[in-house]
Amino acid sequence: MDSCIFCKIIAGEIPSVKIYEDDLVYAFMDIAPINKGHVLVIPKKHNESSSTIDEATAGRMFKVGSQIGIALRRECDYDAFNLHLADGTAAGQVVNHAHLHVVPRGVEDGFYWNWRQLKYEDGEAAEIAEKIKARLAKKL
Ligand code: AMP
Ligand code: ZN
Repeated sequence: MDSCIFCKIIAGEIPSVKIYEDDLVYAFMDIAPINKGHVLVIPKKHNESSSTIDEATAGRMFKVGSQIGIALRRECDYDAFNLHLADGTAAGQVVNHAHLHVVPRGVEDGFYWNWRQLKYEDGEAAEIAEKIKARLAKKL
């Protein structure tokens, strides 16, 4: 994709601090980290949505992301890591080339996910589950 900044990074047309590269994925330092050491793992083939990434590449992204998370724990004194992927603008996706965030975390790093816990009405969870299952049965 000509106008995509992450495709340009893979092609070397925009500079990046590279962590890892293989036939399927490319990993580099996020330019504006949540915590220092924040890395992005991206498929080499342009995909806007995580849902269109082929299984081998998606698996590689997850594996490489987890290994980078472990490296951040062991080598950079972090306690933990989050793997995060925003799929779609409403979910916070800004760059339209799918990317897995590896966010190193410390016990007192001052960063909090704004996580809430809603409650279901009776039968509501099962109703939604049926819709998801029906679509999965068509697609997978
Ligand atoms: P998202 O909001 O999930 O789409 O995340 C996009 C991420 O890309 C943000 O964390 C940005 O800091 C990061 N980013 C944008 N441009 C660059 C760049 N040129 N090099 C490295 N990271 C970038
Ligand atoms: Zn791209």
